[in-house]
Amino acid sequence: MSDIKIPLAGVIGSPIAHSKSPALHRHWLDTNSIKGFYIPMDISRDNLADVIRSLPQLGFVGVNITIPHKEAVLNLADLVTDRAALIGAANTLIFRKDGIIHADNTDGYGFIENLHHGAPGWNPKAGPAVVLGAGGAARAVIATLIEVGVTEIRLSNRTRNRADVLQKEFGSKITVFDWVKAGNMMDGALTVVNTTSLGMVGKPEFRVPLDGLSSSAVVTDLVYAPLDTQFLIKAREMGCTTVDGLGMLLYQAVPAFERWFGKRPVVDDTLRAAVLST
Ligand code: NAP
Repeated sequence: MSDIKIPLAGVIGSPIAHSKSPALHRHWLDTNSIKGFYIPMDISRDNLADVIRSLPQLGFVGVNITIPHKEAVLNLADLVTDRAALIGAANTLIFRKDGIIHADNTDGYGFIENLHHGAPGWNPKAGPAVVLGAGGAARAVIATLIEVGVTEIRLSNRTRNRADVLQKEFGSKITVFDWVKAGNMMDGALTVVNTTSLGMVGKPEFRVPLDGLSSSAVVTDLVYAPLDTQFLIKAREMGCTTVDGLGMLLYQAVPAFERWFGKRPVVDDTLRAAVLST
């Protein structure tokens, strides 16, 4: 008999059945021959604190956190990284051996890695960035664009107030445009990001005009269902380099898997295929 503990990890959200994270981590556990498990857990707000506090005793080394708990877990962690505090949300918890619960946010890392791999040579400092949307994902995108040296961010959101709040928080690099004038942000933009849920299966189509877009722009969509959104198709027709949103999901998982299971996993075509087949 071996006394080796089987490491457990998982994802907590509600709903959770649609999550692609179990397939993603299963693939890495298998390809790295790690005898661990990654489990989806549908947990209500009322039970969140109790569940998180009991997981380390059950053998969990950490969990991902998704909608609607990303903000609430910051109050349940003993240590919050500067990045997660700046974004105001965590997507990864690490249960340390000394009992400390460590909260981090790797969405921004995933976003930037995806752009570097999908658009080799992309230089965030070379020109203005456009961000559409001001929800939770936009916060991670904006914080990380500023971190990697973007000097100007043009931001627009259907509900203008949410964009104004981000402008106040993240500062003078951000200029807010009214949603009806969002098309005006495209002139001279080098990086264009859709962080709204527009274009996602079951949601309205993305209709912001892209006429002003230059063919040198790198355009990315956080929506990955469908993989090739109308927004990306239109941008590609205009000659832009486009990067789909699936890569962000895959790359954001890399640091978490490494912290939990001790091995840095690889993002490759077999992983994409495994995740897309779920
Ligand atoms: P969220 O906090 O709910 O924000 C949703 C955003 O979409 C808000 O800006 C909202 O504007 C906008 N929106 C929704 N319906 C709209 C409509 N009919 N017209 C105009 N704008 C509309 O969600 P989130 O967490 O930021 O996620 C946003 C998207 O990113 C989702 O599709 C999510 O799946 C995707 N995402 C992908 C990854 C990845 O790894 N690829 C990671 C995170 C998120 P209002 O403020 O006006 O409501």
